Amino acid sequence: MGIYQQLGLKQVINASGKMTALGASAVHPSIAQAMGEAAMDYVEISELMIVAGRHIAEATGAEDGCPTSGAAAGIAISVAAVIAGCHLSLIERLPFSEGLNNKVIIQKGHAVHFGASVPQMIALGGGKVVEVGQANHVEEDHLREAIDDQTAALLYVKSHHSIQKGMQSLDTMLQLGREFGIPVIVDAAAEEDLRRYVAMGADLVIYSGGKAIGGPTSGFITGRADLVAACRAQYKGVGRAMKVGKEAIAGLLVALGQYAPEKQNVPEQCRRVEWLARELNSLPGVKAVIAQDEAGRAIYRVQVQLDERVTKMTARELTRQLEQGNPAIFTRNHYVNTGMIAFDPRPFHEGQEHIIAARMKELLQKQGEGE
Ligand SMILES: *Cc1c(COP(=O)(O)O)cnc(C)c1O
Repeated sequence: MGIYQQLGLKQVINASGKMTALGASAVHPSIAQAMGEAAMDYVEISELMIVAGRHIAEATGAEDGCPTSGAAAGIAISVAAVIAGCHLSLIERLPFSEGLNNKVIIQKGHAVHFGASVPQMIALGGGKVVEVGQANHVEEDHLREAIDDQTAALLYVKSHHSIQKGMQSLDTMLQLGREFGIPVIVDAAAEEDLRRYVAMGADLVIYSGGKAIGGPTSGFITGRADLVAACRAQYKGVGRAMKVGKEAIAGLLVALGQYAPEKQNVPEQCRRVEWLARELNSLPGVKAVIAQDEAGRAIYRVQVQLDERVTKMTARELTRQLEQGNPAIFTRNHYVNTGMIAFDPRPFHEGQEHIIAARMKELLQKQGEGE
């Protein structure tokens, strides 16, 4: 019996992707082992932070890195760092930042919710949020005119959560940052490419450890040495409330060392989705196809379109029943309102596609016979 079942919880089959609500990633045994060993021993945390920074820098091509408890903490700590630097009295004063250069400029279409609010994380680090333009339209002048001598940073959110149309590019923000001598922070929480934004010239880049990298609940900031040192210094201030444990740091570093986005097991994924699509296509009112990720990543999912007149059940109702079963099955529901759900094979444990096929048969055939 698994630990969650011992605690009285239902088993979960995750067919939705890397979802914080389901615990983000299930780590590889080698990562879990590193975390276990780290948990059972002592280490000088200040040295661990420095060594971790070197490993992060190697993985990203930046000068240095700083582990965090997650990408959300990474936003708050980065903002605190650009406001307070390594100045202890200022670090201890945050998030109260009156009189300091505390404005953080963000395009309105980037002031989004990722499970919590980006502007709130900026405020947590002492930033005064300056949203510019409109939700679907920002011009360079909006950014340029917002910059003044109290501006601490420009923040760019690279994410599917951001509005994709009508925003100014990261290149434009980097150019403005250089022109005015203001650091540019990139929230790249779920991005697969750990080097791209550093190489483009961003001053600080934030990643989640539990998303693309497949590590434990954790995160990191990477970038310019002086600013990363200031990030580490925030653990004497607001960062303390977001402390990252030695176990998580150990797991994060092992995950980073093993990370190779191009080596994700695509043939194995394809075998699973082909099998599942064939099984589901035999069900009444179900049309299953294999679809590549919308953003063009090498992810192949089973996309299921229900003919709700035949199934007598909406896609929304089907997902509800899948979630209420035991094991509970969670699907990818971005298009559920159009009668479509998807199964993401990446988080599957061995053989879980068989449990999904059986449960789908049970729910949809029962429905057909119920007439
Ligand atoms: C997930 C996410 C975060 C938060 O990451 P955590 O590691 O869960 O704290 C922040 N920003 C964006 C854009 C995200 O997608």
